[in-house]
Amino acid sequence: MPDVLVVGAGVMGLWAAVMAARAGLSVVVLERDRVGAGASGGLLGALMPHQPDRWNAKKQFQLQALVSLEAEIARLEAESGLSTGYRRTGRLMPLVADHHRERALKHKIDATTAWALGGRTFSFDVLDASPVQDWPAAEAMPAGVAFDSLSGHLSPRRLLQALRALLEGMPRVEVREGATVVSIDPLARTALLANGERIGFGHIVLSAGVSSFDLFSSLGLPLARAIGTAVKGQAALFRGDIDPELPIIFDSGTFVVPHEDGYCAVGSTSEDSFDDPASTDQLLDDVVTSACRLAPVLRTATLIERWAGLRPKAIGREPMVGLHPDFSAVSLLTGGFKISFGIAHELARLVVSEIGGSPVELPPAFTVAVHLEAAHRKI
Ligand SMILES: Cc1cc2nc3c(=O)[nH]c(=O)nc-3n(C[C@H](O)[C@H](O)[C@H](O)COP(=O)(O)OP(=O)(O)OC[C@H]3O[C@@H](n4cnc5c(N)ncnc54)[C@H](O)[C@@H]3O)c2cc1C
Repeated sequence: MPDVLVVGAGVMGLWAAVMAARAGLSVVVLERDRVGAGASGGLLGALMPHQPDRWNAKKQFQLQALVSLEAEIARLEAESGLSTGYRRTGRLMPLVADHHRERALKHKIDATTAWALGGRTFSFDVLDASPVQDWPAAEAMPAGVAFDSLSGHLSPRRLLQALRALLEGMPRVEVREGATVVSIDPLARTALLANGERIGFGHIVLSAGVSSFDLFSSLGLPLARAIGTAVKGQAALFRGDIDPELPIIFDSGTFVVPHEDGYCAVGSTSEDSFDDPASTDQLLDDVVTSACRLAPVLRTATLIERWAGLRPKAIGREPMVGLHPDFSAVSLLTGGFKISFGIAHELARLVVSEIGGSPVELPPAFTVAVHLEAAHRKI
């Protein structure tokens, strides 16, 4: 019987397994399909901060996570021997109107206090022209361009490979693919698999992406289906003469994210209703058109992959993390929605500390109790 049973091998579940194993716990990861079969197996990997205005606990948590990720990735790469494609290259945001520029100038001031941590500061600047010609195209930024030095990116698939490789080399850790959890008995501390097998656990971490919400239901709470939903996203991957050191471009929901070896991801749609979670369509064509307008170099690059996935969005939009208030052997680690890659390692660290009995400080909006209250109000 493992000390910790982790359900789902996406970015959340794999970081949870790594943190638990580093804490000396035995770990089994159960994955319905294969590592990265969910949203984490996508293309973008943008690591972008919340804006520096109206500062709050959630933004502070994300800032700390984005800063600590740098050392965490360095350790992961050293221990696994694999690169994740991590780079803190910053982000360029075209400004299309004077009032956008005025708001960006306010962010510049806000960032001087908000984006400071442990002696490090990150800037939010307003420029008349991009430091790199045609990145973004001049016609896309009539009022200039904002640049922040905090954003970065990594390759989602390389990150998962590195996490997996690390886990495979750790003692008392098993990653099982093709193992679907259908229900959980939180009092008997057992999980029932689709093949009829029952696995005991000391503690269970639900990090099954959008399916976490269904597993939550299996705990027997009638309101659980109100606790979260799936938001579909489509993205595409190009390959061309694109420098991985270039900043991300972000404009009105369109991302252009350079990666290693000339790859460049573009995204994303955000769809609350959809028929087929895995299909790509005209909505992605529109994103590609907008990305090519922002980054003309993409017009001569080769489009090599179109991809879609489902983002886990918990009620209230914030991650749903930590001990279940009614079941002491159950933790949630889900609802990362659009920002999981920048925060998963810190959330996982907190979940494992809590399992070990240490008091942890989560932003209140992340706790399971707050999500349950919101779901109660909704139904
Ligand atoms: C188009 C798009 C672009 C995005 N861009 C970014 C970005 O730039 N930056 C960012 O930070 N985030 C981004 N996101 C969001 C990010 O991908 C997700 O928030 C994140 O991947 C969620 O990770 P997860 O581990 O919670 O879930 P998932 O990656 O979905 O993993 C859950 C895993 O659980 C498994 N599973 C499900 N049910 C069961 C079960 N019953 N038993 C066993 N296993 C099960 C699934 O097969 C899956 O592998 C994007 C998402 C999309 C769709």
